[in-house]
Order: sequence, then C-alpha cells, then structure tokens
Amino acid sequence: MAGLPFIFLERAGILSKYKIQSKNNTPAAQEKCITHLLLYHICVNLPLMLASYPVFRYMGLRSSLPLPSWKVVLPQILCYFVLEDFVFYWGHRILHTKWLYKHVHSVHHEYATPFGLTSEYAHPAEILFLGFATIVGPAITGPHLFTLWLWMSLRVLETVEAHCGYHFPWSLSNVFPLYGGADFHDYHHRLLYTKSGNYSSTFTYMDWSCVSDILGVRVGPSAGVGAQDQHLAKTPYLWSAAQGAILCI
Ligand SMILES: [Zn+2]
Ligand SMILES: [Zn+2]
Repeated sequence: MAGLPFIFLERAGILSKYKIQSKNNTPAAQEKCITHLLLYHICVNLPLMLASYPVFRYMGLRSSLPLPSWKVVLPQILCYFVLEDFVFYWGHRILHTKWLYKHVHSVHHEYATPFGLTSEYAHPAEILFLGFATIVGPAITGPHLFTLWLWMSLRVLETVEAHCGYHFPWSLSNVFPLYGGADFHDYHHRLLYTKSGNYSSTFTYMDWSCVSDILGVRVGPSAGVGAQDQHLAKTPYLWSAAQGAILCI
C-alpha cells in the first residue's frame, strides 16, 4: 500500500520537479508490477510468514502484555537495521555476479526507473534469499510481536522510499548523511550490473568501506527533474571503468 501513491504521482505528473529521472513508466509496466506483486504475496510471502512463525516462537517471540518499553524497542530496531544492511549488502552483491544476475536478480532490475512498488518486485528466489536479511535480527533476539511488526513496517517503508523515484526536500537522506534513500538506490537501478554499485539497503557506509559506492550521485533537493540524468552524463568514464574492474575481481 505504501508504494501506491507513487504510481499516482507519476501518472498525474504531480511533484514531478522532485522526480530523479525524467523518464516515466508506462501504465502497462506499472500494471505488470502490481499483478506480479499480488501473485508473489499470495504464493511466496504468505507461506513464508506462516512457516517462519513457529521459528520466531521457538526463538522467544512474545505477544503478551505489557508491551516492551521504548528503551528496549528502539535499540532492537536500530540493531536490526544495521544487521539487515550488512547481510543485504553482501547478498545483493552476490546477486550481481553473472549467473545469479541473469537468472534471478535481473527480474528486480527490469525497472530501470523504479517506483515504490518495484521495491518488492523480484524473483521468488530473491525474495527468499534477501528476505533472510530482514528476519535474521528478530530471529536471533526473539523480540515482542509489537517490535517485530514495527520493524517489518519500517523496513517496508524504507525500501519503498528507496525505490520511489523522487528526492524530496523532506527526504531522510537530506537529514541523515549515512542514510541512502531514493537517489542512492535509483542510481543502482539504472546502470548495467557490471558497472553497478550502491548495494546497501538502508545506509551508505558499507558501500563506502567496500569501494562500491558511486561517488557524487546525490543531487540537491531542488535540483529539478532529471538532475541525475545530467549528473550521469558528467560522471567520469574512468570511474565507471574502475567500478567495473573492482566488481569483476
Ligand atoms: Zn541490484
Ligand atoms: Zn532495487
């Protein structure tokens, strides 16, 4: 549901001055994404949730009152974000190797101009593989059900925002420098997999420290429509070639 408003924004051309790419998706492409998501949620996500519930219970998941204090919930959520980002980074980077990209991850990259709902548009094998990054934190710590729901909701909102295709003045990446956000991940979607980078889900430091970040992709909040297109045209070819060489090692 969180991704739906961005379809309407794109179709109606509302707030288009904050759109990262000047290209728009066709209605047919948007409808294909919605149809596949409905199918995946019923056939993949729902069975996965049902199967993982006994595991969470075994690891200590509680649903009784009272609710946990914020002093417990907030550190847990922060730990989940950090852990998820680390596991996601390496899982995502592995998905960009030749065979896995061709047979699995290329599905997610069908949309070079992402919109909110494309955050969950992926091959079923990828949903299971990278879904592990989302549940590893709660699975280890056995949180309260309230904490688990809050974490899942924030994680969905975060990935929808990363794929929304808009960089607003109020975007979190303007406030928190270590937060990736839409402009960070949008760039990942538009490059060939051998020249790709920006693999992290939430933060930017994993890509910085592993030399897989695309330098200088951020555009200002009022840079205007297609600002990243202009930036891309100015990106030195040498840097793109260096990225490709690093990722082939
Ligand atoms: Zn990717
Ligand atoms: Zn993506």
